[in-house]
Amino acid sequence: MNDATNGRNVYILDSVIVPDAWDSEVEAEILSGFSKVSLLHLRSEEEFVPYAPSADAIIMWHHLNLTRLSISRLSRARVIVRNGVGVDNVDLEAAYEFGIPVCNVPDYGTEEVADHTLAMLLSLWRRLDALKESVRSGAWDWRVAEPVRRIRGTTFGIVGCGRIGTAAARRAKVFGFEVAFYDPYVPSGYEKAIAVKRVNTLEELLERSDVVSLHVPLTDGTFHLIGLDQLQRMKPSAFLVNTSRGPVIDEKALVVVAQSGRLAGVALDVVETEPNPPRELLELPNFMITPHAAFYSVEGLREIRQKSASIVLDALAGRELRNVVSAK
Ligand code: NAD
Repeated sequence: MNDATNGRNVYILDSVIVPDAWDSEVEAEILSGFSKVSLLHLRSEEEFVPYAPSADAIIMWHHLNLTRLSISRLSRARVIVRNGVGVDNVDLEAAYEFGIPVCNVPDYGTEEVADHTLAMLLSLWRRLDALKESVRSGAWDWRVAEPVRRIRGTTFGIVGCGRIGTAAARRAKVFGFEVAFYDPYVPSGYEKAIAVKRVNTLEELLERSDVVSLHVPLTDGTFHLIGLDQLQRMKPSAFLVNTSRGPVIDEKALVVVAQSGRLAGVALDVVETEPNPPRELLELPNFMITPHAAFYSVEGLREIRQKSASIVLDALAGRELRNVVSAK
């Protein structure tokens, strides 16, 4: 028993794959005097099972799944905090059943993901890869980029206009896009508040957009939201960007549609089978995949760690929790 920490344990899971998070100094500083903080370099949930009974709180990144297997063994945990927005890797039903609140940190990377969305899109739109290669090979030929369209007047379509969708809308406007969104859940008038067009169906958004950018959470309702029918409704000259979650797109359908040359470009920061994107996708022209990196900045990473540790502190101190996604 450690007196200063009352024998409490906060475990940080899955940190092995997150850059700059290979220590627990940020969390330990905030939780000093309340709990010991341990970083567990785990590659599977099974490896966490022996630690589960001694956990008073868990902070977890996005690669590991926390299912009933370990949640049922969390006999004294007061909270599970997801270092991120999406909680699709936590079995919320099991956490609810065992009375463990689940919180997220929804706002640390809003700007980064929106920046990444526009960065990937503009790189494909302006054909930077081909232009870079032209210089590298000694050709010095701008025509390798042909044909590039002017952005002004084209439509940037957003599916899911929450925090990141809205931040992407603001950026897209600055570049000259007409912005439209489909999101049945934001209140009426939101489109007026942010001065963009709202459409009432996903089909209409897909058919009118020159860029379709996905910003929905992964839920039962958004799994394979973009399938064969939806991809075929998009303009053949359109770009598709996904920085939300891989399974929002049916990747098998995407391979079929992209191989037929129907899309001008596809940019994915997330894929269904992370960290192994399908080879067929990697080989397509004007295709870009980044390794679930959109959230990342030095400042954002520090912010998320401070915020998740603060939620744990509130839980251990018996205070009201912020950013509760599920609780009894
Ligand atoms: P948010 O909750 O603020 O916004 C999500 C929006 O999607 C909400 O407005 C909601 O009404 C809408 N929505 C839900 N279901 C929908 C549907 N069927 N059709 C249309 N709209 C729907 O979330 P956010 O902070 O903007 O984050 C969006 C997603 O981005 C997250 O859920 C997460 O999966 C992803 N994300 C990815 C990274 C990354 O590194 N690539 C980082 C952070 C977040």
